[in-house]
Amino acid sequence: MNAFKFIPIVLFLIFFNNEFSFSQVEKLNHSLKELEYIEKTTYSSESVNTRIRFVVIHYTSTNWEQSLKILTKADYEVSSHYLIPESFDETYKEKNLYVYKIVDENDRAWHAGESSWQGRNHINDQSIGIELVNNSECYYQPDNKELNYKENYLCSFYDYDPKQIQLLIKTIKPMLKRHDEIKPTHIIGHSDIAPNRKYDPGPRFPWFTLYQNGIGAWYDNEIVDKYWQEFTTIKMPTILDIQCALKSYGYKINLTGIEDKQTNAVVRSFHYHFRPWDTKGDIDVGTASTLWALLEKYMPNVIDANSKITCVKE
Ligand SMILES: [Zn+2]
Repeated sequence: MNAFKFIPIVLFLIFFNNEFSFSQVEKLNHSLKELEYIEKTTYSSESVNTRIRFVVIHYTSTNWEQSLKILTKADYEVSSHYLIPESFDETYKEKNLYVYKIVDENDRAWHAGESSWQGRNHINDQSIGIELVNNSECYYQPDNKELNYKENYLCSFYDYDPKQIQLLIKTIKPMLKRHDEIKPTHIIGHSDIAPNRKYDPGPRFPWFTLYQNGIGAWYDNEIVDKYWQEFTTIKMPTILDIQCALKSYGYKINLTGIEDKQTNAVVRSFHYHFRPWDTKGDIDVGTASTLWALLEKYMPNVIDANSKITCVKE
């Protein structure tokens, strides 16, 4: 019976609460009408950088028509910021080659997938992706898959159209002014950021031509020679040293101290980028000398006076 005494109190509370919130909303609406929103750009902070850090180069593995379909239709769930066609492609109907911007640079394109560079993951979040129409492709020989991980895939790599490369250079150059975080070692291939599953843009991609046009990283021959001398006359770095060096440069690699499958994939990607005449992924004195020359040029802090690499922390 006592419970009935509380009913009026409960009803009052409900009523009062409704009244209360109703009048608050009214007040807020009223004040929004009174106040005009004006955004001023009188002051700007100097403490700012661009969200874009990396440029990732890809090949599409197919012709213009298919590339465009795959990179623009929702079904495929892949995209890039730019798509550049090549000459002599029968499916490309325009008279001239154009650069197609299919995703705004401020938006996130889906080109990198699971990826890592210089300790950063989720490269789609912080990069511009550029797809080049080129028919190169790699595939596994199904019946040979487990025999030898170095030999069990087949690649057909095709030269890039020089006009397409000129357009690429013209695409990237102004980008470097727009995004001050894109440093030379931040311009990379898909295989650099996902070495165990990607082969693009492949060993035919002209990284040195880009470098000659102020884009990306390249080594100085005399520094390679210096390390070549040192490594052949004094001591070749250990596998662990080389893993540390690859990791310091940007590759994701576990420091196992043995020349294992993941090391082979990373070294193959490194070769695609910097030593494209030898793409088996075997470590040799040329690999180590090139890697050390790049580190001396772009990350001098990681090499000590005895050419020892300070390994970056996990
Ligand atoms: Zn790719």
